[in-house]
Amino acid sequence: MADTTGKPEKILIVGGGTAGWMAANLIVSRWNDVEVCLLESTEIGIIGVGEGSTPHLKFFFDTIGVTESEWMSRCNATYKNGISFAGWSSVTGFESYFHPFPAQVDDYTVPVFFEHTRARLQGKPVNAHPDHYFLETYLTKHNLGPIPAESFPFGVAYGYHFDSHLLGQFLAEKALSRGVKRVFGTLTEVIFNADEELASVRLSDDSFLDADFFVDCSGFKSLLMQGALKVNFKSFKDNLFNNAAVVMPTPISREIPPETRSTALSNGWAWKIPLTNRYGNGYVYSNEYITPEQAETELRQHLNVGDSDVAVRHLQMKVGRAEKHWEKNCVAVGLSQGFIEPLEATALALSCETVMRFMKHYENGSYTNKFSDNFNQEINAKFEGVRDYIVCHYKVNQRKDTDYWRDNAANTHLSENLEKILHFWRHSEDFSRDMHLNNLVGSYQPKSWACLLAGYGVFPSIEAHVRYQSPYDLVEVADFIRRCGLNFKTHNELLS
Ligand SMILES: Cc1cc2nc3c(=O)[nH]c(=O)nc-3n(C[C@H](O)[C@H](O)[C@H](O)COP(=O)(O)OP(=O)(O)OC[C@H]3O[C@@H](n4cnc5c(N)ncnc54)[C@H](O)[C@@H]3O)c2cc1C
Repeated sequence: MADTTGKPEKILIVGGGTAGWMAANLIVSRWNDVEVCLLESTEIGIIGVGEGSTPHLKFFFDTIGVTESEWMSRCNATYKNGISFAGWSSVTGFESYFHPFPAQVDDYTVPVFFEHTRARLQGKPVNAHPDHYFLETYLTKHNLGPIPAESFPFGVAYGYHFDSHLLGQFLAEKALSRGVKRVFGTLTEVIFNADEELASVRLSDDSFLDADFFVDCSGFKSLLMQGALKVNFKSFKDNLFNNAAVVMPTPISREIPPETRSTALSNGWAWKIPLTNRYGNGYVYSNEYITPEQAETELRQHLNVGDSDVAVRHLQMKVGRAEKHWEKNCVAVGLSQGFIEPLEATALALSCETVMRFMKHYENGSYTNKFSDNFNQEINAKFEGVRDYIVCHYKVNQRKDTDYWRDNAANTHLSENLEKILHFWRHSEDFSRDMHLNNLVGSYQPKSWACLLAGYGVFPSIEAHVRYQSPYDLVEVADFIRRCGLNFKTHNELLS
C-alpha cells in the first residue's frame, strides 16, 4: 500500500548486479522512509563485466556520501583520465588519439583546438590532432593521475576502473547497512493486481514478495519491463554491428596507466582496463563476421598470451533499448532497460541518470505516472545520444582491411542527428556554434565530437598553395599544458 502522500511504502528491486545495488543506494539516500527490498538469484549470478566508468560514477558516490578512500581500495580501483583509441584510422599521423574527460583549463585551449580544426577543414596546413590541446591527454601521456595539488585551483573530471564483482559487493554492503533488505531467490512468475499493475513476484520456493513499486534490474532478461509488462525492445543492430565479447585478464604492469585503451582489431575492438591487481581485457565483435573461437584466438594474439591457461569468458550482448523505461509501477535500470556497446563505458552513467531522473519526476508528479512520458523521452534521448557518438566511431573509421570495417564505413543507417553533425563538421564555419544552435549537444559536447572526428583525421587534403598564420602559438599551448601538469602526481603515487 502507498502512504497517504502517494509515496510507495515498499519498493522491490529485482536483480543484484551493479545496476540493482546502485539503484538501492540511490533510493535509500533520497527516500529513507521507504522500505526497499532487493531480490537476487545466486543460481543466475551477475554479468560480471563493466569495469570502466565515466565521471558520473564520482557523482554517484558523492550523492550517496561515500568517499574514494572508502571504496577504491576495496574494489581494486584506479583512476581514468579518458580513453585512447588506437588503430581505428589508417590516415597517416592519425593512427591513435586520446579522448579526455573535461578539465576546467580546457577553456583556455579549446578555442585554439576549434580554430585549428576549422582551418584544417578548409585545407590549411596546421596541426589539428586533438592530442596537442588537452591537459588530461598530457597527464595520461606522463602517467599522471587526475587529482591536482590543492594550490591548483582548477578541477579535472575523471572516471574510474574497478572490479565489477567487488564493486557490487561493496554497494550491497553499503545498501544493507542503510536498511535495504536482501532476499536470495529466483523469480518464476509476476503477479498483477486488478489495475493491471505489478503486485508481487513468485519465487522458485513458492514464496511471494509484494511491493507498491518495482525496479527491474534483472539484466538482459528484463523480466519485468520487457517480460511481464511486454514493453517493446528497439534493437540498434542496424547501427551497431557488435553483439558479442570475449573477456580475459592479464597481469598488471608496474606503472598503472590512468586510461582505458581501445584498440581496433580485425572485426571489432579490444579494451584494456587497468585495475590495481590485473588488466581486464575484452574483444567486442560481431559474430556475423567472426566466430567466438576466432575472436578468442585474435585476442590472445593481441595480448601475447598464446595458448596459456587464462580465465576466458564468452558473452552475448543485446544492443538497443526498451521503448519505455518507466511503465505502470515499474522502472527498468541497467541492462534490463537497454545497452549500448561498451566503447565509451556509459552503461553505469545511464543507470545512475535513470534512477535520479525517475525519482525527480516521480516526486514532481506527487508519486503518480504524470511525468512518465517526459521521463521516457528524456532517457530515450540519452540512449540515442550515446548511440550516435558510438556509431560515429564506426562510420568514420578509415580502415579498409576487412568486410567488417568496410561495411561499417558504408553503413547508411544513421540517425538524422548524426547526419547533421557530420554535415556541420564538414561544411560549417563554426562547428560548435551550429551544434548548439541545432540542439545537437546532448550526451557529448562539441569538443568530444571534434576530438573523435579530428582524432580519426576526418579532414580534406592540405591544399599545397594555401598559407595559414594561426592567431595562436602551439608551443605556448604546449607550455601552458606542461605547467598545469606540474601540479599532478603520478598515477601510482596517487593510488598508494
Ligand atoms: C562486454 C560488456 C562490457 C561492458 N563494459 C562496461 C563498461 O566498461 N562500463 C560500464 O559502465 N558498463 C559496461 N557494461 C555494462 C555493465 O556490465 C552493466 O551495465 C552492469 O554490470 C549492470 O548490469 P545489471 O546489473 O543490469 O545486470 P546483471 O549484472 O546481469 O544483474 C542481473 C541481476 O538480476 C538477477 N536475476 C536475473 N534473473 C533473475 C531471476 N529469475 N530471479 C532473481 N534474480 C534474477 C541476477 O542474478 C543478477 O543479480 C558492459 C557490458 C558488457 C556485456
